[in-house]
Amino acid sequence: MKFCSFSHRDRARFGLVLPDDSIVDLPQAVQSLLGKPDSLVDSPDLKSWLSQGAVAMESAQEILRLLEGGAEVDSGAVYEKDQVRLLAPIPNPGKIIAIGLNYRDHAEEQNVPLPKSPLIFAKFPSSLIGPDDEIRLPEISQKVDPEAELCVVMLKNGRGFSSESARDAIAGYTVGNDVSARDLQFSDRQWVRGKSCDTFAPCGPFLVTEDELEDPHQLDIDLRLNGNLQQSSNTRNLIFDCYTLVSYISQTITLETGDLIFTGTPDGVGVFRNPPVFLKSGDVVEVKIEKIGTLRNRVS
Ligand code: MG
Repeated sequence: MKFCSFSHRDRARFGLVLPDDSIVDLPQAVQSLLGKPDSLVDSPDLKSWLSQGAVAMESAQEILRLLEGGAEVDSGAVYEKDQVRLLAPIPNPGKIIAIGLNYRDHAEEQNVPLPKSPLIFAKFPSSLIGPDDEIRLPEISQKVDPEAELCVVMLKNGRGFSSESARDAIAGYTVGNDVSARDLQFSDRQWVRGKSCDTFAPCGPFLVTEDELEDPHQLDIDLRLNGNLQQSSNTRNLIFDCYTLVSYISQTITLETGDLIFTGTPDGVGVFRNPPVFLKSGDVVEVKIEKIGTLRNRVS
């Protein structure tokens, strides 16, 4: 399944992306097709929907089956993509956790040894933007660099997940761009400011469940800047896979529905290129992950 959050006439909504790329509003569909509990119909956002766990996932699956079988919902519940503005799939995560140095090729380009355990840092949720938003360059930075990343979206609340139970604790995956102000990141000697500037966490366009991917650790991932290929790798090059990350983080930090984990970037980032490449106003950054989608943001 592909979930998305969107706004239509300035009202935030969420839904399922159908095979023809149209979007069905989930609360409206559940009301007209399933007559399910009010808690689903009244869900204000996708995070609230997902927090209802198995009943929410099974209801979405059932709606998809019914629609594919020819069932109809009110015409007002179905939107064409050009009628809506896509938001980050989870516009209101409790936290955004990110991982540094998690691709073998990215460690090699910096000539540093592979880490023995995941390197964790934070991006503030206020840095989150959606696929139709612009990355805004801060006036005080001249070295802003995008990073292509696979993002994990949590389904379950919990602590102490094993890497085996982590799989069922994940709602799905989306595309992220861990935008980084290298001058701030390196001069501060810790990363919060350089990684959490407003608009520095583009995310989307869809939240895709694992059954659509076969294996989240076998996906091509690339980044294009103004159409030119800058990063090209595959998630098989992750040092710590998504299940290991969920397990590792949750040993000490409670993970909650809708939390995002940016899992790290492959080689080819601008700061390590020769000569270095940094974002400038008017650029267009596209991060594409096979079977998940393309996240495209203009820079201003
Ligand atoms: Mg990163």
